[in-house]
Amino acid sequence: MKMRVYEVAAELGVDSKTLLQLLSSLGYQVDGITSVLEESDSADVIRKIGSLRQMSPDDEDIKDQTVPGEIPKKVSHCLRCGRKLGVFRKRFRCTMCGAICCQQCLRTVPEQIEDITVLVFDYPAGTNICVTCFQEAIPAGEEKMAAARTGAGRIDTWPATYTGQIPVDTGKPVHPIESRYFREKQLALNALRVTAAFLECDLVYEVRYEKEMRSEPDETYPVWRALGSTGKRRTRS
Ligand SMILES: [Zn+2]
Ligand SMILES: [Zn+2]
Repeated sequence: MKMRVYEVAAELGVDSKTLLQLLSSLGYQVDGITSVLEESDSADVIRKIGSLRQMSPDDEDIKDQTVPGEIPKKVSHCLRCGRKLGVFRKRFRCTMCGAICCQQCLRTVPEQIEDITVLVFDYPAGTNICVTCFQEAIPAGEEKMAAARTGAGRIDTWPATYTGQIPVDTGKPVHPIESRYFREKQLALNALRVTAAFLECDLVYEVRYEKEMRSEPDETYPVWRALGSTGKRRTRS
């Protein structure tokens, strides 16, 4: 039976665009996802690329293998660029989607985005993720960041020296947060507020500052970072 690329992709449980890349890397003449593969070709492709089927993020096996280490050798091509994997092109696994990819298609979750130390990604800094997951996370993160900047003005703060009662809901998770270093304390505090808003919290407490001296050829000056805890405001019942 002749099959179109998207039909073969459905059969294999991979997305059509990925399959298209793989097909051209394997030397098949295909123009688009509606291109028709000859009967012998489609059978061949299904056999050759069958091992990619396990890369579906829904697959329980793959979820278990998102931990570093075990990467199945039978996956022969990078799922992102289609290049052949082997001794000269090592295989890596995306922690987010589980795809096996080459180093060129691997990105690292960055330490901090703009002026606050908070992750736009749901994974800690240093986590290896594939280029597709990286590109999908950034617009979502930036949108959330813009909302956090707008909402930051509504975040109430209490210094670490405050001894009164803070209306924090102790039943909700508490996030220790910190800013990067700024020339002014106020900017560091603003960064904490943005972080809190980003984390969908409504207050920051136990705020304290750490000073560091910076030296440049013509001046030495102090910089400050703010640290604190953020959580949800207690609601009256
Ligand atoms: Zn690749
Ligand atoms: Zn991924």
